[in-house]
Amino acid sequence: MSTRHRTTHPTNQPAGSRWRQRAACRDNDPDLFFPTAAPGTPAHDRQAAPAKKVCRRCPVTADCLAEAFARIPNGVAGGLTEHEREQARRGGRKARTA
Ligand code: SF4
Repeated sequence: MSTRHRTTHPTNQPAGSRWRQRAACRDNDPDLFFPTAAPGTPAHDRQAAPAKKVCRRCPVTADCLAEAFARIPNGVAGGLTEHEREQARRGGRKARTA
């Protein structure tokens, strides 16, 4: 994965906005949030579990998830994997067109 995809993740950002200053992942290794297994596979889910655990105790999950939908294409962010965010996007589109 290119580093370009990692630059928008809260673990790699300066604390420019207020919510990023409160991110639970700020002191974590960014690698924790970027599983290497194929998205949507059980191996990916196992690798993503520690990052999701950090997200569960994060006070700014909603802010992060909104940012993730807009600007974080890869990795675990807002408590969801990239695959789960894509599924949510598709679900949202279906709901809007139904
Ligand atoms: S929700 Fe997860 S990825 Fe987002 S700021 Fe919090 S700990 Fe970091």
